[in-house]
Amino acid sequence: MSTFKAPKGTYDLLPPDSAKFLAVREAIAAPLRNSGYGYIETPGFENVELFSRGVGESTDIVTKEMYVFETKGGDRLALRPETTAPVLRAVLEANLHKAGNLPVKVWYSGSQYRYERPQKGRYRHFSQVGAEAIGAEDPALDAELIILADQSYRALGLRNFRILLNSLGDQECRPVYRTALQDFLRGLDLDEETLRRAEINPLRVLDDKRPEVQKQLTGAPLLRDYLCDACKAYHEEVRDLITAAGVVFEDDAKLVRGLDYYTRTTFEFVHDGLGSQSAVGGGGRYDGLSEMIGGPSLPSVGWALGVDRTVLALEAEGIELDIPSATSVFAVPLGEEARRILFAKVTELRKNGVAADFSYGGKGLKAAMKAANRSGARYALVLGERDLADGVVQLKDMESGEQTAIGVNEIVAELESRLG
Ligand code: ATP
Ligand code: MG
Repeated sequence: MSTFKAPKGTYDLLPPDSAKFLAVREAIAAPLRNSGYGYIETPGFENVELFSRGVGESTDIVTKEMYVFETKGGDRLALRPETTAPVLRAVLEANLHKAGNLPVKVWYSGSQYRYERPQKGRYRHFSQVGAEAIGAEDPALDAELIILADQSYRALGLRNFRILLNSLGDQECRPVYRTALQDFLRGLDLDEETLRRAEINPLRVLDDKRPEVQKQLTGAPLLRDYLCDACKAYHEEVRDLITAAGVVFEDDAKLVRGLDYYTRTTFEFVHDGLGSQSAVGGGGRYDGLSEMIGGPSLPSVGWALGVDRTVLALEAEGIELDIPSATSVFAVPLGEEARRILFAKVTELRKNGVAADFSYGGKGLKAAMKAANRSGARYALVLGERDLADGVVQLKDMESGEQTAIGVNEIVAELESRLG
């Protein structure tokens, strides 16, 4: 055993479980690809300024959770804690928003890094699939993204999740609300840190998980009652569109998101089988972000779904994904000459698109058949001394146990036809 272990708060994805992660990523990506979203990939690190400006100086992500380092060349970089700001940075840098085809719709899949207290469902390295629609203000776009996330979860078989929906208002109505909320919070019995938060980012206090704080928040003013007419109409339209699509959601007047740049539509997907790490995904509109990082006004909306927590949600619901066996045919040679012949056949099968594997290391029949079993292959090809003399191979159906001798030259055609 090696003396090295995966760093605290991280874990390795290993086969066979890793297949589940790939399947989840794929299930989230498929509806996006099908809806005009193009794939985007940005570096795993960015200039730290991008996040401190684009996520917000007062957020937990920036103040506590970022991995910041200085390069030998003196650049201050951060491992990405989220990918919305990087995506917008990339779109602006490449001028995709000037190509005259707004919104720019992109999706990504990748690692995120946050220095957090590790617990089940909360890691320092985790994985998200996300989608961003940049440069258009249209309630149908907000609705599209919510509908697509719902579709992904349903395609995976998930049922015990809920969609929480709220509007955070805009530059016109939120400041009025912010002041009203601040006045309210100043009258409460709160600890010093929370009072400070109330001054910098009062909406975040609504998100406080502590029961003694939540109890005091019962009579807090709600943004819902402060929305300007434009925000109200926008939000009604989003609600109507997702309702018409048959997507069930709950209005949550206290839902705020951890990032500073959100405006109007905000939503979260929560799963009821995950304990305190219940958010499997979240997102919303971020009309102000582009200007915050030096770009033009580009109203946008997006979400990020957590792959790790989605896998945990599947486990919580007892859902076994239907993942086809990686190997269809497993070749078992007994002896030197058989090894050469079968290896060539395996190569040929693979070239023809048949997933095939081979018994390596000169195993005997018993150990090799065990390996064949473990591979999940539907068929085994066994080539022994006697078969060699007869010019045949034993084709064994691993499900029925039935075994037939077939000519060496017919192997590929026979397997192709059997595997359909
Ligand atoms: P939380 O309130 O649980 O910290 P968050 O609001 O910080 O979540 P987002 O920044 O919105 O989360 O990220 C979107 C999704 O990414 C979350 O819903 C979750 O599924 C996942 N996620 C966030 N942080 C972690 C983490 N440390 N470990 C695993 N998954 C995470
Ligand atoms: Mg967090």
